[in-house]
Amino acid sequence: MLQNNSFLASERFYECLDCREAVFNPLCPACLTTQIEAWLSSLSSYPLKNKILTRIREYVEKTNNLSGKSTRCVSCGKPRASICPYCFTNYVFNLLKRMRTNRIILKEFLQFFNYDFEHTGYSKEAEELGVI
Ligand SMILES: [Zn+2]
Ligand SMILES: [Zn+2]
Repeated sequence: MLQNNSFLASERFYECLDCREAVFNPLCPACLTTQIEAWLSSLSSYPLKNKILTRIREYVEKTNNLSGKSTRCVSCGKPRASICPYCFTNYVFNLLKRMRTNRIILKEFLQFFNYDFEHTGYSKEAEELGVI
């Protein structure tokens, strides 16, 4: 049954649990993970992909547990976009860097998953990698 308050809740934007900015382009961590997983599986010669996916899933699990009130995801419609796409992809980018992923893969990641629209975060590194 549709409750009035859940309808109202879908009308507003909750802030990202990480950067504290309103989540304007809500794509939840689970949906982003599906995209990242598809991208990872396209990398034929990348031995760390399973390890990375495991770490990403642990992080998604953690954000799911935290999301009491979250913005509704534009893709799956579930109210679990508790972390904005920027913070989530930033987490994955840092994870890739910590695993000493080579520059070609880092560059490809940012070509597919660049949510740094304000160019204040990893865009600088993207520039150095020659992505943008
Ligand atoms: Zn954020
Ligand atoms: Zn979703």
